[in-house]
Amino acid sequence: MNRVLIAEDEPRIAAFLEKGLRAAGYVTTVVASGVDAAGYARGADFDLMILDLGLPGQDGLAVLAQLRSRGERLPVIVLTARDAVPDRVTGLDLGADDYLTKPFSFEELLARVRARLRDRGEPAPTTLAAGPVRLDLIRRTASVAGQEVELTAREFVLAETLARHPGQVLSREQLLDRVWGLAHDPGSNVVDVYIGYLRRKLGADLIQTVRGMGYRLAP
Ligand code: CA
Repeated sequence: MNRVLIAEDEPRIAAFLEKGLRAAGYVTTVVASGVDAAGYARGADFDLMILDLGLPGQDGLAVLAQLRSRGERLPVIVLTARDAVPDRVTGLDLGADDYLTKPFSFEELLARVRARLRDRGEPAPTTLAAGPVRLDLIRRTASVAGQEVELTAREFVLAETLARHPGQVLSREQLLDRVWGLAHDPGSNVVDVYIGYLRRKLGADLIQTVRGMGYRLAP
């Protein structure tokens, strides 16, 4: 999965990161304090954290130290306005996987996010298949019986989420959470709308509705 936790207290930078990452198909959650960063980074909800060092309350280095002392292996890319060598060295010593100095280009950040998600532990699959549908996770493209089909970034993440759990029912809440991020309105019908888009593009029989429970990819 491609869930990114953004810990950044400057609203303008947080919005810039969130907008760009979402457009690239990532699911994002923004937190603006060190305490929230440490709390949200607990467990397996995210695949990567972008961590600003200058956070209110508890700074990014303290968050990182706390994370690594708990044994959390979550990849962390540190953002710092301070180009000071000691900060970078301390960050890397504390277990940061990479760092970027502000100002940075979004393309560079994206390249580093991709690289960090690529080198995680076990080799990740590069394609997922379900019946005639194939999802290319590197190029972020979909095909049906060898014919490429155009999906939006969000549609792709939804298809990917279902394809990663073949035959398993995922509830609307789970899909909202995994595809649209935690803060989304649970009363929304956006999941049903997007399931409709995917059925139109990938085939009507691909995704089954399990009444009262959710959706699953046809086994
Ligand atoms: Ca800051």
